[in-house]
Amino acid sequence: MSERINVMLSQETIAARVRELGAQITREYADRALVLVCVLKGSFVFASDLARAIDLPMRIDFLGVRSYGEGTESSGVVQITQDLSRPIALEDVLIVEDIVDTGLTIAHLMDLFRTRQPRSVKVASLLHKPARSKVEVKIDYLGFTIEDKFVVGYGLDFAEKYRNLPYIGVVERT
Ligand code: 5GP
Repeated sequence: MSERINVMLSQETIAARVRELGAQITREYADRALVLVCVLKGSFVFASDLARAIDLPMRIDFLGVRSYGEGTESSGVVQITQDLSRPIALEDVLIVEDIVDTGLTIAHLMDLFRTRQPRSVKVASLLHKPARSKVEVKIDYLGFTIEDKFVVGYGLDFAEKYRNLPYIGVVERT
């Protein structure tokens, strides 16, 4: 069995939307300093593009999270594999996610971060799959709402493959 990738969101479509989100974030935070939290591994591409589309003073930190095994189903268990490098108390934090699927990961991260008493915590997610939502989460800055398909590329993987694709696509087994 081989795999083929069908393009769902092209490189150009993503780039245009990321620019819009960056401009919106720049406007809404005015001149405040931001802590951009890149949730590894999936959001590393989105976070690096989004960071460059935001014209504000910021620091960038990384949080390692594992919620999926090797397959395509969420285990429902969120494991922190690498914590932030510095405290976030009194800071304006923007969590950058690749995709909100069941919502369990982001709900867990919001709870965790609030215990650290930042000034604010908001969420930017490139993708949202509302069909699979298990808990309600507020996405402050959303790239695209997509249908219930397992997507890869632009940082997202299937068993660690395809993260380097410049577009978002759907794996088709032929
Ligand atoms: P949630 O906790 O919202 O169910 O899932 C969040 C995480 O599951 C995402 O950050 C991502 O790593 C993974 N995930 C959810 N849906 C997909 C998908 O369609 N493709 C890939 N590659 N990962 C996904």
